[in-house]
Amino acid sequence: MQFNLINDKKYFIIEYINNENKNSDNPLVGYREEGDSPIIKLLDNRIKFDYIPKKIHPDILAFICIIIFYPFLSPEKDITFPTKVSQKLALELRQALPKELIVKNESIDYDLQPYIGKKGSILSFGGGIDSLALFSLFPNITLVHEALLNEDNTGIKTLIQKIDEYKDCNNNRKSYIIASNSKNITDPPGWPTWIACIATSLLLCSSLGISNIVLGSSMGSLPKSFTISPWKTLFKNAVNINIVTPILGLSELALVRLIDTRLLDYAIWCNKADNNDNCNKCVKCFRRSLLVADYYNDLAILDWSGFNNYNVNRMLRKVRQTLSQNIYDRELGLSLLYLLFKHKKHLPNWIKLYLMNNDNSYNIDFLSESWYQKSLLYVPESLQNYVYNRITEKVRIMSIEEIKIFETLTKIST
Ligand SMILES: [Zn+2]
Repeated sequence: MQFNLINDKKYFIIEYINNENKNSDNPLVGYREEGDSPIIKLLDNRIKFDYIPKKIHPDILAFICIIIFYPFLSPEKDITFPTKVSQKLALELRQALPKELIVKNESIDYDLQPYIGKKGSILSFGGGIDSLALFSLFPNITLVHEALLNEDNTGIKTLIQKIDEYKDCNNNRKSYIIASNSKNITDPPGWPTWIACIATSLLLCSSLGISNIVLGSSMGSLPKSFTISPWKTLFKNAVNINIVTPILGLSELALVRLIDTRLLDYAIWCNKADNNDNCNKCVKCFRRSLLVADYYNDLAILDWSGFNNYNVNRMLRKVRQTLSQNIYDRELGLSLLYLLFKHKKHLPNWIKLYLMNNDNSYNIDFLSESWYQKSLLYVPESLQNYVYNRITEKVRIMSIEEIKIFETLTKIST
């Protein structure tokens, strides 16, 4: 297996060649770690970014190669990277992941020191509620937003412009928009691994001295906490980069309240519409619309008919099933169930029907104003004080009683 850097003046291009598949007409197939379809096909073996880093540490470059093409790598076969990597990285790759990845001996530089950042942080920014709330807690953080090559990114550009004008930032902070063909390299479309969402942040690491890549993962991700992800350990051990998730202890209900409404109006959480904007039809748009409508208290006047489609109805069927069995469903989360019941009388009949004969046993008002402070366990020790101070400036911590209710409902135990 081989990764090549393609010489290009305009784009940063990485090519992946799997010799076993080189002469085959069939696309490479792999397993995706999350999402609807566990099987993905590789449609394009070249990833292309419209940003060329001034300098990039060979180990960081190797990581970009690995996290993007991981599902399509063959275990226990020699890998050659575009530039020789450190011995430390080669050792870690052999041990850390479910697949044993072996760096070819000729692709190791035994004198190369591993990457060490200068304590800088960058927010891998998605443009949705989680990212915007995180930005409002840490307004001076540098952020990088992914965009799509050759597509209309007006929504993203407008949002970033609003952020750069935001009054609470210091003037030295910077935003980057980096476009790639990530959406088109696989079928189904999107990054092949969840961790690949930090690929664009990694491009900036060496130039900016980044030590922390901050993700806007919220309470929904708490049960499948990153501590169980080998990627997080691998990054820490091999390239001294922390994957930081400071808002894991905040629910969507709290997060939406942290965002300045001047930014909330420009939030983008879905790129399914033609102009790469919210489609206002899919499950994600449904959930987000419900959350924002709750915040503005204008649920009764909204037209929900655009959401009356197969996918949203399928999700609501799951809600009905979850309620009748009185089980907690991690994917649906507490906020959705809570909001559906809170606004039951204002929702149209096609939604209401799914909620009939069930009571709301989810009394979680406190989640909109409090922080599950035990999530601090998942923040690196060096950042814990800072994160604690920033969050408690805006949100109170949960009482012991509330923690008990929350842990019982979600079956979380720490
Ligand atoms: Zn959508």
